[in-house]
Amino acid sequence: MPPAAPILLTPGPLTTSARTRQAMMVDWGSWDDRFNQLTASVCTQLLAIIHASAGHHCVPLQGSGTFAVEAAIGTLVPRDGKVLVLINGAYGKRLAKICDVLGRAFSTFETAEDNPTTAADVDRLLHADPAITHTALIHCETSTGILNPLPQIAEVVRRHGKRLIIDAMSSFGALPIDAREVPFDALIAASGKCLEGVPGMGFVFVEKQALATAQGNCHSLAMDLFDQHTYMAKTGQWRFTPPTHVVAALHEALLQYHEEGGLPARHQRYADNCQALLDGMAELGLHSFLPAAIQAPIIVTFHAPKNPRYQFKDFYERVKAKGFILYPGKLTQVETFRVGCIGHVDAQGMQAAVKAIAQALQEMEVLDI
Ligand SMILES: *Cc1c(COP(=O)(O)O)cnc(C)c1O
Repeated sequence: MPPAAPILLTPGPLTTSARTRQAMMVDWGSWDDRFNQLTASVCTQLLAIIHASAGHHCVPLQGSGTFAVEAAIGTLVPRDGKVLVLINGAYGKRLAKICDVLGRAFSTFETAEDNPTTAADVDRLLHADPAITHTALIHCETSTGILNPLPQIAEVVRRHGKRLIIDAMSSFGALPIDAREVPFDALIAASGKCLEGVPGMGFVFVEKQALATAQGNCHSLAMDLFDQHTYMAKTGQWRFTPPTHVVAALHEALLQYHEEGGLPARHQRYADNCQALLDGMAELGLHSFLPAAIQAPIIVTFHAPKNPRYQFKDFYERVKAKGFILYPGKLTQVETFRVGCIGHVDAQGMQAAVKAIAQALQEMEVLDI
């Protein structure tokens, strides 16, 4: 795998293949039939990844991932609905902020950043407040890399007759989700994460009946997934200017996804990346903030070295000079930094990253190895 320089070990934008970048060297018109076939093909393939073809529509939306999350909440939660937001990190907090800004009633349930929400928690919360219509959660909370127990939570929500909105931005395509077994109204992801496309579009898998009854809910013209879907179903075109190059790159990234072996192969490569990273870092005395059982193979939060000579900015610049981009920590209580396991990179690349990290820490006289 020839590395693009530098390698982004971040949760998006991330390292893409030369082939994916090459696919953007064409200017497509929005009326071009071939471009509209590209969009349709992308949507069909995305639905198949989570076995959602029968029960859900795939509604693509211009913008970063958060645009699609905001669109899903705005479109699917009626103005008199109420959302239970499950939080154990920054992206969960963002869900609550979206509800707040959109003027949707909500309540929050927050656990510590190293503590997954449990199905029992959700059961208790739904019993206690019958006004709740929707539950919203983050599948893999990217601020730490923690995995929340989605199938169990989905089952409890279904049993209560409530609706589920899932932000699966950093897990879709790499961690298995089966829409035939996990009931949800909306599952949201984006082009520039585990599918290894470039950033610029999100997409929402919306349960068909839920979308059919969502007309007029949305606070926003551009974010209305009902209108977006209705227009696309009628014309085959995007409602407003499409992110043409992003769609073309995603189409090419999906070809490679299937060539690699689809979700099981993508999952395995990321799991190998994660293991190579954890093993290499452990040799340097650096350990994950999360226990292995709840660590998703997407991004790892490491405790920063305790040495007073350690400064993230200095560390970051030194590792960057060796060809790797790291990510700052997002925890308030403890000093951490993050290393992504996703993108067009393999276990050898992760070992090279660990070597660069070791050298940087040696230069800073933080490690003596
Ligand atoms: C990346 C990500 C998002 C979207 O972030 P944007 O910066 O808007 O692309 C949302 N939720 C999670 C869990 C993510 O990892």
